[in-house]
Amino acid sequence: MKQRLLWVILLISLVLLLMRNLFDDVVSPLETEVRIQTRQVAAKIFATQNDVMPPTHSRANEPTKPIEPAAVVCAAERHDPDAIQYVEELLQELSDELTPYHGQLSNLAALELYLPTELEEHMPRIKSLLTQSYSEYRNAFALSARRRFTVNMVFAPNYATSFDDLASRLGVDPRGSQGFYLGDSNTVLVENNSVHQALTTAVHEAIHVYNYRLVGVLPRWLNEGLAEYFEMLASIKLAGKGQVLSDKTQPLEFSVMLSSEAQWETQSRDQLYFSARVWSQFLMTHVQGRNALKAILHAEAQTPCTTLTAEHIQALMENHFPLYEQAFFNWWQALL
Ligand SMILES: [Zn+2]
Repeated sequence: MKQRLLWVILLISLVLLLMRNLFDDVVSPLETEVRIQTRQVAAKIFATQNDVMPPTHSRANEPTKPIEPAAVVCAAERHDPDAIQYVEELLQELSDELTPYHGQLSNLAALELYLPTELEEHMPRIKSLLTQSYSEYRNAFALSARRRFTVNMVFAPNYATSFDDLASRLGVDPRGSQGFYLGDSNTVLVENNSVHQALTTAVHEAIHVYNYRLVGVLPRWLNEGLAEYFEMLASIKLAGKGQVLSDKTQPLEFSVMLSSEAQWETQSRDQLYFSARVWSQFLMTHVQGRNALKAILHAEAQTPCTTLTAEHIQALMENHFPLYEQAFFNWWQALL
């Protein structure tokens, strides 16, 4: 009798256990809906990117991460299918003047170049400069692409009005600029006054793409500062020298840079570019400065759709480089 009771208890326990497992597998309708939406969002991301299969043996493999939740994909969703189609049609129209070349910056990052005749012989140099800048950027800040992306880069032919004309057709004001990264169509446009200018501007604009793809939206001073810094490195590689830091201009203080966002479209723009370049160069040449930049970029990457507050960046800077103001002063004095 006692044995039979034991068997009954065992049987009931088994049934209970089975039922629990069964219910664990049941997904509520709400959860199913979320799963479907997530899948749709994922499908949308892939559809809006010019997906290129990576080569099987890439030298610069990046870790492939799973698709992130919907809240984190805002940046990739910003591309406008109409704008992409418009650029495709424009390139089709210019197919007699611009030759397309394909390359890979890494297993996740593809490169599509559109070159006018006079730049075709420089194609290997352009590819290698962009590949180098991508791996230098990734190594300096220990960052990887959030997902597969393509750098679409169009170089204007070198006759007088070609850059202005293309910029206007893409809806941007060409005055005072040598290149653009247009987020809505994921297109970079580069002016071509000389080979040196075209190649260094290409690196500058590519850094904007890397910032956007590996980190997200950044404050203007940081976005431009990094672009200017890597442009200078490219200039040194090409000609043995970068832009000279003029002793006539005094760079803005770091705290002023942090609150400069609204001033970038005003007359003080030149001084802002200059100061952003000087601060990036200073930070990149100090171990603590690099660590501070890395910490700022990693914190920015946590919220790719928004920028950190000035207070947050200031705090990260002080944590990683407590005596940065004194160090900056000494570094600047030594340069003059
Ligand atoms: Zn820029």
